[in-house]
Amino acid sequence: MSYMDKSIEEIHEALKKGLVTSDELVKESLEKSHFVQDKCNAFVTILDDAKGTEVTDSLLSGIPYGVKDNYSTKGVLSTGSSNTLKDYVPFFSATAIDNLSKAGAVMVNKTVLDEFGMGGTGTTGHTGIVTNPWDHTRMCAGSSAGSAAAVAAGVYPYATGSDTGDSIRKPAAYCGIVGYKPTYGMISRYGLFPFASSLDHCGVLTRSVRDAAIVTDAMKGIDKNDMTSWDSKDVHLLDALDGKVSSKKLCYIKEICDIKNYPNASDELKAHLDNFMKTIDICKKLGMEVDEVSVDETLLKASPATYVVISCAEATSNMSNLTGFIFGPRASGDKWDEEMKNYRTKGFSPLIKRRFVIGSYVLQAQNKDRYFHNAQRVRRLLVDEWKKLFEKYDAVILPVGSGPAKKLEGSKDALDKNTAILEDHLQIGNFGGFPSITIPNGFIDGLPVGVNITGNCYEDEKILNIAYALEGAMDFKGQVCKEVR
Ligand code: GLN
Repeated sequence: MSYMDKSIEEIHEALKKGLVTSDELVKESLEKSHFVQDKCNAFVTILDDAKGTEVTDSLLSGIPYGVKDNYSTKGVLSTGSSNTLKDYVPFFSATAIDNLSKAGAVMVNKTVLDEFGMGGTGTTGHTGIVTNPWDHTRMCAGSSAGSAAAVAAGVYPYATGSDTGDSIRKPAAYCGIVGYKPTYGMISRYGLFPFASSLDHCGVLTRSVRDAAIVTDAMKGIDKNDMTSWDSKDVHLLDALDGKVSSKKLCYIKEICDIKNYPNASDELKAHLDNFMKTIDICKKLGMEVDEVSVDETLLKASPATYVVISCAEATSNMSNLTGFIFGPRASGDKWDEEMKNYRTKGFSPLIKRRFVIGSYVLQAQNKDRYFHNAQRVRRLLVDEWKKLFEKYDAVILPVGSGPAKKLEGSKDALDKNTAILEDHLQIGNFGGFPSITIPNGFIDGLPVGVNITGNCYEDEKILNIAYALEGAMDFKGQVCKEVR
């Protein structure tokens, strides 16, 4: 009997009835971890000596899960998938991980990401490329690549992720699972390696909306160590899922969804947008009103550049503490500055260093207003535009990416001008700190694709409920890919 491809509530019930023990679940999850490691290279560390925990009324008690390797985990290697921290073992755990431990959850592995979360392919971690369990010639997207691969392959029902531009929500789509980042600050970021602090969100990858609600209910909470965290004790995500959505109003954006905007559209892109429009019909059948709306195209197209400027600037500042003296392996050199230079030059991959060059450039005194401050102004305009939509609509619904997972070979971590806005609109959810969830939206040529629902800050209950109703009207809930079935 396999339990790790079931939902959290099903596993909890089996534990309660004594059909299985927590130790047996851990054993199953570890065996699957090794199997998926051979196939997908999804893990930095597999905790072979993990032990089951006592089963209580907490839904997560005794159940295994995975942790993205940019979360600090006490006494357990935490690398951020970077050579600069390849031997770093923190002496404390991230608050979100402590909260999961308090709920009785059992961490069984640490998952691979793009180095420090800076990437969208799952190919830039220091332990190598993560392959997509649905098709190993394709990427998982990133940066939460290992978490997405493992949840999709049935290693466990959930793993943690982090999302600065789309890093939970895009890998979820490419792997056919659910990816949710709650409103900014709902889950404490304390102990999450910072990438771009004003955009960073903790979140989860699961195989159902209910599971996403259960895990987030356990991870969230105000934290004195994260001054951007807020008190969400009145938010009960699981309890809010009643599937009643008939009075809800959604919109999708013409400039992003209309095939006419893509003159050289591939068959794949056409199928993807067609598929999305069918989902819009399902929303209407559920009784929701769905409108097509227009947003200034110039503003939309400014989003990727805005993201690059802000995220690189913040990353450059955040990562200046990686000197090789406090964390990470000591580099060689006769003097301290030589040591630091060697550590950073050899430790960071070229992709990351390119981002630091951009970040330093836009922060230079003579450039700051032209680039950094202007990017902040555009961020504000984009957030205001979305807020305007939320005055009239409960949520914005949009396709994720320009199709299914891309081929590993020949793909670059660079923007394709034609489809950039389709690929990058999720970052607007980070600009505004909006709650945003991706759910599976079927298959194109046998490969999963996703649909995203984003709402106004603090309206997580409503957003999850819309996603829950839509998930219930489609056939992809709880899907586990062929890998370990
Ligand atoms: N792909 C985006 C980037 O490269 C987003 C990454 C993220 O959300 N962590 O920065």
